[in-house]
Amino acid sequence: MAAPEAFAASTEVGHFINGRAAPSTSGRRQPVFNPATGAVARQVALGSEGEVSAAVAAAKAAFPAWADTPPIRRARIMNTFLGLLNQHRDTLAAMITAEHGKVFTDAQGEVTRGIDIVEFACGVPQLLKGDFTDQVSTGIDNWTLRQPLGVVAGITPFNFPVMVPMWMYPVAIACGNCFILKPSERDPSASVFMAELLKQAGLPDGVFNVVQGDKVVVDALLTHPDVRALSFVGSTPIAQYIYDTGAHHGKRVQALGGAKNHMVVMPDADIEQAVDALIGAAYGSAGERCMAISVAVLVGDVADKIIPKLAERAKALIIKNGMELDAEMGPIVTRQALERIEGYIGVGLEEGATLVVDGRGCKVAGHEGGFFTGGTLFDHVTPNMRIYKEEIFGPVLSCVRVPDLAASVDLINAHEFGNGVACFTSDGNVAREFSRRVQVGMVGINVPIPVPMAWHGFGGWKRSLFGDMHAYGEEGVRFYTKQKSVMQRWPASIGKGAEFAMPTAK
Ligand code: NAD
Repeated sequence: MAAPEAFAASTEVGHFINGRAAPSTSGRRQPVFNPATGAVARQVALGSEGEVSAAVAAAKAAFPAWADTPPIRRARIMNTFLGLLNQHRDTLAAMITAEHGKVFTDAQGEVTRGIDIVEFACGVPQLLKGDFTDQVSTGIDNWTLRQPLGVVAGITPFNFPVMVPMWMYPVAIACGNCFILKPSERDPSASVFMAELLKQAGLPDGVFNVVQGDKVVVDALLTHPDVRALSFVGSTPIAQYIYDTGAHHGKRVQALGGAKNHMVVMPDADIEQAVDALIGAAYGSAGERCMAISVAVLVGDVADKIIPKLAERAKALIIKNGMELDAEMGPIVTRQALERIEGYIGVGLEEGATLVVDGRGCKVAGHEGGFFTGGTLFDHVTPNMRIYKEEIFGPVLSCVRVPDLAASVDLINAHEFGNGVACFTSDGNVAREFSRRVQVGMVGINVPIPVPMAWHGFGGWKRSLFGDMHAYGEEGVRFYTKQKSVMQRWPASIGKGAEFAMPTAK
């Protein structure tokens, strides 16, 4: 599938188990669309319990040798993989645009942010270095090391088919685990291409596997006794289900959920910068980003200054097939998602919000079957409205008016989600107070989408993350390894007889 022509001609996306493509045995499949045209592009296999068992068995068999491979040699394979990714980055980006719909330049950015994590994983020998204390007691040393868990799995959403799996598998594999990826069934092709590149880089068979599918595959992974840990990224109800079920079956789980990200604009902010930030962060990737800004919190007199400018820009968005290089916004991933988003616009009107720009019914010439909607802008949104409380996951920006900074922080802290947040201001003390008081995992000061870099780790608070550890960064290394403490004494220092009191340093 490496060449773009092979991808364009592919009719079915299957699994990748034990180092080779594995055609579906379940007989179940579902269509994958090109959202820009609305046409069915290919089918994706929907795996069965049997296919999960085969992938887990392959991963389990590969684990002992992979875990014993020196970290530096695992890192060298990651480094070769990095080279291949850089060589094929535009192929991956084109696959994303073809099945997700986001504009090509945005897809290129997604690939780059995924590659960042592979670069981080290349440093795994340093990250796995343990702690050592000489002489914790006379003649005794104590050290800690981190060892891989075994077979681990990742379940990923449609909105970042390359980057979000890369939040997981490069770190997991570099730490010595064997990985099973269950990608989104909406845009599955990139997963198999990444598996082929890993094999080409020299990764032993069975270390990375892909099982396509839906709830059947997820449930089989959640209950399989040989799966030690699960990483999930997706919507909050499923994240909670994964967390509860995985924990019930004794697994380590990190489950990242949905979001409703606010951007506060203070009266002292640079209004033009804030407009640029809001337009990009609300309508980029058609709002289908977990870090998209969906609420603008306009403080004091900001609303009257900024809303006319936002309206003008929202109406002028260039909406077309994401493969056309001047496109600013592509289609929505599926017709069902488009209907959900446009349904919310109707709800907002019924709830009494002011519809300033209505994106419904957007048509793109030559792409009449595509799943397009325009940018939508609401004013006078209040916290009791569903369009404020619920994640719409589309290009709909809701503006809420508040009197001051304290009211904006109270508003944000009362929301069920706490993924990302931003504050635009020119006052350092406001910035400091805001970032200290806000109950959100990732904060941007004059940065609308503060997705942390590879070595910092990604994660929200409240119902945006179930589990203790953030994705990637050092938290990712901790998640995919368990700590062991070793205490040693050599015979020359033994010989004091049995000790019955708690040992203390002597
Ligand atoms: P989703 O929850 O529908 O699906 C995510 C994954 O779960 C997919 O692989 C899907 O096949 C699987 N799944 C779906 N229903 C399931 C069920 N009933 N049982 C078991 N598995 C099931 O999410 P999506 O629509 O693909 O992605 C969008 C959502 O992901 C948004 O809510 C967005 O905020 C969230 N997201 C969060 C982050 C984050 O870092 N917090 C990042 C990206 C996306």
